[in-house]
Amino acid sequence: MRQYQLKETKEIKKIICNKCGKEIPAVDGEPREGVFSVDYQWGYFSEKDGERHSFDLCEACYDELLKSFCIPAEIKE
Ligand SMILES: [Zn+2]
Repeated sequence: MRQYQLKETKEIKKIICNKCGKEIPAVDGEPREGVFSVDYQWGYFSEKDGERHSFDLCEACYDELLKSFCIPAEIKE
């Protein structure tokens, strides 16, 4: 005799860039293109104490963001 337990799983189907709306498909829960994902909890000394901010950017929007920096991001190989 076998007894089964129903398991609910959640896996990413697609990621939508918060900046441009581009849809990035995912296969087996893995996005097929580079995605910059942020999940940040603001702390006590910020104006947003206790807020948690999450968003995703496609690679093109990430590149645009980096281009807007006056001091370039540190990039290591
Ligand atoms: Zn984008």
